[in-house]
Amino acid sequence: MSGLTPRKNAISEITNRAPIKCEMPGPLSQIWATDVFSLAAMEEALSKNAFKAIKKTVQTGELLDSANADIVAAAMKAWAMKKGAKFFSHIFYPMTNITAEKHDGFIITNSDGGAITEFTGSLLIKGEPDGSSFPNGSLRMTNAARGYTAWDPTSPAYVMHTANGATLMIPSVFMSWTGDALDKKIPLLRSNKALDKAGQRVLRLMGETEIAPLSSSCGAEQEYFLIDEHFANARPDLLFAGRTLFGAAPAKGQQFDDHYFGAIPARVQVFMQAFEDKLFRLGIPAKTHHNEVAPGQFEIAPYYEGANVAADHQQLLMTLMKSTAKEHGFMCLLHEKPFAGVNGSGKHVNWSVGNATQGNLLDPGKTPHDNLHFLLFCGAVIRGVHKYGSLLRAVIASAANDHRLGANEAPPAILSVYLGEQLESVFNDIKEGKLLEQAKGGLMDLGLSQILKFERDPGDRNRTSPFAFTGNRFEFRAVGSSQSVSGPLVAMNTMLADSLNWIADKLEVVMAKGEDQTAAVITVLQELMQNHGSIIFGGDGYSTEWHKEAVEKRGLKNIPTTADALPAFKEPSVIELFKSTGVLSPAELASRFEVYAEQYILSIEVEAKLVTGMASTRIYPATIEYLESLSRTATNLSKLNIEICHNSIDEIVSEVDLMMAAVTKLKAALVGQNFASTEAHMDYCAHTLCPMMLEVRSHADALELVVSDDLWPLPKYQEMLFIK
Ligand code: ADP
Ligand code: MG
Repeated sequence: MSGLTPRKNAISEITNRAPIKCEMPGPLSQIWATDVFSLAAMEEALSKNAFKAIKKTVQTGELLDSANADIVAAAMKAWAMKKGAKFFSHIFYPMTNITAEKHDGFIITNSDGGAITEFTGSLLIKGEPDGSSFPNGSLRMTNAARGYTAWDPTSPAYVMHTANGATLMIPSVFMSWTGDALDKKIPLLRSNKALDKAGQRVLRLMGETEIAPLSSSCGAEQEYFLIDEHFANARPDLLFAGRTLFGAAPAKGQQFDDHYFGAIPARVQVFMQAFEDKLFRLGIPAKTHHNEVAPGQFEIAPYYEGANVAADHQQLLMTLMKSTAKEHGFMCLLHEKPFAGVNGSGKHVNWSVGNATQGNLLDPGKTPHDNLHFLLFCGAVIRGVHKYGSLLRAVIASAANDHRLGANEAPPAILSVYLGEQLESVFNDIKEGKLLEQAKGGLMDLGLSQILKFERDPGDRNRTSPFAFTGNRFEFRAVGSSQSVSGPLVAMNTMLADSLNWIADKLEVVMAKGEDQTAAVITVLQELMQNHGSIIFGGDGYSTEWHKEAVEKRGLKNIPTTADALPAFKEPSVIELFKSTGVLSPAELASRFEVYAEQYILSIEVEAKLVTGMASTRIYPATIEYLESLSRTATNLSKLNIEICHNSIDEIVSEVDLMMAAVTKLKAALVGQNFASTEAHMDYCAHTLCPMMLEVRSHADALELVVSDDLWPLPKYQEMLFIK
């Protein structure tokens, strides 16, 4: 041992480290999607007929027959083995935010003891990982734990290279023996289907005859922090909770905003280069990267893709981000709020809906015809966010995201929709029936030209809105950085499907009365706006006035914690929403509540234990050691008739006493509780344990500012954020 504190040791290691050399990646044309069993790779490997069959499945979701599945499996195996793969894995996405995989060998032995390889269509299509340890929210008992993974041919298979070799990865769904969805992919696929069905109804009523399948698209902007792993290793809170549970505010934080879009530190550039190289090989279209607002914070945004593939790619991106960071001596923090007082990390989910024949239905377009499609789809979103705001809040709820939402740097915990000035006034006119009156008075052209006036890019952005229209898509900005995008996408697709069905029902009635298309659209949208227009807000979402107005005047809900948010899964309207659209059965929905609630409770309890442990075994001993050295110094000085001022010593003694008293209280609060319900347990976490943790922290942070720097055991904020 060097005799240094772990913290000082970390600083010395970091400042003396040899830089990792930057490996120049090959040109994009040579690396793009080389590890993906893409349509192009399949075309090369398959007979014309087999390729035609799989292509249809990929593009329309149509069932692949077993003979062709066998052919695809054989080609996939040959392709993967050529790349060095000896194992394959169905990769799936349990209800927690993680990615799961179980690896199986291609190898089997024959009767002579020789090794051959095998991979049939049925092995490709179905796996049985059991996976009984994944939380399933009572959807299956452990003694009836059979769980299946099934190949999702609409998301491409790929070869993953890791330290222990290459593995063929097969994107899959995960279900119970009874066929209940145990994962995040099945509901996403179902929500796309529901959206397609409802969207087709509306488009047919609008006179469209050729309508390709509709689906949603997603482009996710991912924020993250990089800190040196030596710092992380000296902080159990970062290692086990992903965030700092202690830490005084630094003298220099982000006050200067000098990090935003600033020059990317060289070491981080090397990391990004290596990381993006991997993304490109796996066919993930990394497009934008830059520094974010907080020091040590960065963002990456791939180009948008179909929601299902985008969701799989997002999970893979997070996995690769963490593993590549490790290779570069960093820890990648995806937690929503790793540092108190410093901006947290979100994941902006850009979302649109469209198809091959009508294009992006959230694009205002250039002609009145497009406008009507757009107004209906945009109106449907407005209704959805208003009617199912509490669901949208629930799907982004987590212990971690609670620290970020409403913290005056992230969207507030009140759901509202930002449309931009022009669009807002169009919808306000519709609400007032102005366009309709003009239509009746023969001024239709004027009305339509008014609609025509808004442009693709309605100018301004509103950073304070949780749900903003940004020209040809909506951006759900309140999603947390560590979360899967699937939950939000499922909620958005499903609420949209529901609204489109409502619109179709209304249109049918109005059109049966003989109203022409435009008048019918305006009539239906007028009713929609009168019932749901109060969700539209273009002002400052951070302001206290908005919080007051939203709740008191508009009847919107401010839902600050996960404990308050998750019960939305039990609202009758939400149960009906998922049931009527076929996205989740009541039992599947109930299981989501249980799993998310359990995750919430577990993360708070783990944090509480970390707080008591770190305070008792790191901060307390360091403080006592400092007091002891002070008292030795005081005794020696008094021999020379020098008395040192006791004020600062008294302050330390008082803070350390208060801290340990708070620790004792928190420890007691953690044992022997019985709760009448999961809701009560969540409430206890939110309103009893969290404040107690903060109390311990406040004294510990005060101590950090007075105890000798040489003795302080935990890397400080300034160091973690700035030393690279
Ligand atoms: P911002 O200005 O919000 O930081 P970025 O360029 O960083 O924007 O990210 C915008 C994201 O939105 C990208 O992932 C982009 O591909 C995606 N996007 C663009 N158009 C659409 C669309 N029609 N549907 C879904 N996502 C889209
Ligand atoms: Mg954005």
